[in-house]
Amino acid sequence: MSTHEKFEAVLTGVIRRNPGEEEFHQAVREVLDSIRPALVRHPEYVEAKIIERICEPERQVIFRVPWEDDRGEVHVNRGFRVEYNSALGPYKGGLRFHPSVYLGIVKFLGFEQIFKNSLTGMPIGGGKGGADFDPKGRSDREVMRFCQSFMTELYRHIGEYTDVPAGDIGVGAREIGYLFGQYKRITNRYESGVLTGKGLAYGGAQVRREATGYGCVFFAEEMLRAAGDGLDGKRVVVSGSGNVAIYAIEKVQQFGGVVVACADSSGYVVDEKGIDVEVLKQVKEVQRGPIRDYAMARRHATFVPGRRVWEVPCEVALPCATQNEVSGADAATLVANGCITVVEGANMPTTPDGIRVFTEAGVRFAPGKAANAGGVATSALEMQQNASRDSWTFTYSEQRLQQIMQDIHARCFETAEEYGMPGNYMAGANINGFLRVAEAMLVQGLI
Ligand code: GLU
Repeated sequence: MSTHEKFEAVLTGVIRRNPGEEEFHQAVREVLDSIRPALVRHPEYVEAKIIERICEPERQVIFRVPWEDDRGEVHVNRGFRVEYNSALGPYKGGLRFHPSVYLGIVKFLGFEQIFKNSLTGMPIGGGKGGADFDPKGRSDREVMRFCQSFMTELYRHIGEYTDVPAGDIGVGAREIGYLFGQYKRITNRYESGVLTGKGLAYGGAQVRREATGYGCVFFAEEMLRAAGDGLDGKRVVVSGSGNVAIYAIEKVQQFGGVVVACADSSGYVVDEKGIDVEVLKQVKEVQRGPIRDYAMARRHATFVPGRRVWEVPCEVALPCATQNEVSGADAATLVANGCITVVEGANMPTTPDGIRVFTEAGVRFAPGKAANAGGVATSALEMQQNASRDSWTFTYSEQRLQQIMQDIHARCFETAEEYGMPGNYMAGANINGFLRVAEAMLVQGLI
């Protein structure tokens, strides 16, 4: 069998064993395609069946989450925790509460997390979890009851040396607070390092809230600098208006760029004067309202319902919402309107067609597993602070984050050069992330 045929056989096997999990197939295909050159150089990994092993989660937990709404009606949701790979450290990765969550989503996110976490250079394995619960329109008390029920099962699977969840879409400081409270109550342990993304009042870390968005922009600046350019004066479009998008917008502006549009699932707003982050925070973090409310508060801004934010011309695009939000057609629109740099703040936001369009057009493209790694890296800093019962200042924490993003950029950049694909950040990220995990797996024996 040729090397090519061997890869195809492995991929076909993974797809057959995990039927119907399209996002997972997409993530595996992308990683396996780009690590081929690394496997040619490392036949020992092929021999030890590292690929087959890395695609199979170490453990998958699926559980019932019953809860009662404010009217006393009972609901049943499905909870997940996929403990994917612990070669580098305890499983680490967020929890997503969104109606679209099913095993295929959790597995794609967990699989990506392995390589992302490896790229940070920190001692964290890969995992992910969540539930098909929709927090939209639910009261705080309903969210609390859901979180308590979710943790009533999850607590037995996690721990600071075992598996350390955090937030993701639909899970922010409020949910982490309820989850932590329930963990503490059930176990009778004040185990700060069992969850990250905690509030600053009880073991949370400075800059964790800002970290994914800030990190994405530190990465973008680094990438532009490597090409003799910078964010200063750039016209930028950001999708999403959640935690990642808000802090990406804030940091772009600190670098002198102008973010003219952002979005949520109902449509987008354009503000030619630059998105006012304080107004956006008020609308999204405090009121938890739709993006239309931004245009109500900033009269010169316009709300465009039901359309894609990618039709707004820009030089830099930051997809910060969710998976597969940039289609081939969206990518073509961006390119036609002069977009030259795309940096992913979300996980796998660009479809394979979109990536093809960007590559063919020579757009500089940074995959989420490199560009959004600042979130989980700062979670690892939170774990460090919890373990030493210390807390660092905002300035110091932000410096650490910036250095981590510069290091991740350098790893991607240099690995791509080393493998004869200069400027291919996707290959650089996948190969570099993979090699560290593969080496650890090999020396730990057949486990
Ligand atoms: N959910 C984030 C991610 O996709 C952060 C995970 C964490 O902090 O553990 O990387």
